[in-house]
Amino acid sequence: MISVVIPAYNEEENIPVLYEKLKKVLDSLGEDYEIIFVDDGSTDRTPEILKEIANKDKKVKVIRFRRNYGQTAAIYAGFEHAKGDVIITMDADLQNDPEDIPKLLEKMKEGYDIVSGWRKDRKDPFLSRKLPSKIANWIISKVTGVELHDYGCTLKAYKADIAKMYRLYGDMHRFLPALAKRFGAKITEIPVRHHPRLYGRSKYGIDRTIRVILDIFLVKFLNEYITRPLYVFGGIGFILFTLGFLIGLYLTVLKLFFGENIGNRPLLILGVLLILSGIQLISTGIIAELIVRTYYESRGEKPYIIEEKINFNGVDKDGSN
Ligand code: UDP
Ligand code: MG
Repeated sequence: MISVVIPAYNEEENIPVLYEKLKKVLDSLGEDYEIIFVDDGSTDRTPEILKEIANKDKKVKVIRFRRNYGQTAAIYAGFEHAKGDVIITMDADLQNDPEDIPKLLEKMKEGYDIVSGWRKDRKDPFLSRKLPSKIANWIISKVTGVELHDYGCTLKAYKADIAKMYRLYGDMHRFLPALAKRFGAKITEIPVRHHPRLYGRSKYGIDRTIRVILDIFLVKFLNEYITRPLYVFGGIGFILFTLGFLIGLYLTVLKLFFGENIGNRPLLILGVLLILSGIQLISTGIIAELIVRTYYESRGEKPYIIEEKINFNGVDKDGSN
């Protein structure tokens, strides 16, 4: 089964057009599917339009957030509710083309866990969007070692277990390929079409690229360090402590065997400092390790609150998730 997850924030004009196109493509696949629209607290007629569609088509499921939680939270909610073995994400504004979906699925059959879209000919403003994205994509590729041209393209296909692996927050949905690599996921990309926004305005500007770049360092940290902070802090602490210890040893030998006066040497102060900071850092590492574990255990809460669910097992009202 295929699940298509679509975050939508004030997309009233786009949704009916998208739905018709998408339905045509999915019907032609001859496989079971569901379309999950996540209404991210829209203030226009998006909820009404989604309800109308879902009323007529039971394959269309709707999750409505209490307020606007952002695209990542919307995608995450879609992942959590998806029943398919393969999950496809795409934008609601028709900048992604439903007709590329068969290509993604075809590529996936070659044994990939994630097939990412690459907007080779991106139809967005150059200075405010394309250029910053180019720089961001380059940095992300270098930092994570996963070479994709276009992390920001929402049109992606995931094996469901990979998509559901992470609790997503911030702008993190785009980094799933980089995160999944740690688990040995096979990742590739294929060129996809990209269209100018049909109706409405983009919700993002250049500030988001900066946030995305900052996020990548968090991802790097999550991937490699945060699970064992003791290695980072402890490693540095151990080196400092060893240096301090050697200095101490050297000074002790001078004092005991050569009878030299060591009380007024700068080296003594350095040695003491190194030993003390070494011990400090090792303890910090241990405490950080405890915090990280507690952090993982304690994050039981959902990053969004659902107001209403439609066409999920006939249960329509659900405020508790
Ligand atoms: N979106 C969302 N919540 C938000 C902002 C955006 O669900 O807070 C959705 C939006 O409706 C669209 C997708 O995320 O389906 C991408 O947003 P947009 O088209 O504004 O971004 P761009 O294509 O300019 O990067
Ligand atoms: Mg868009």
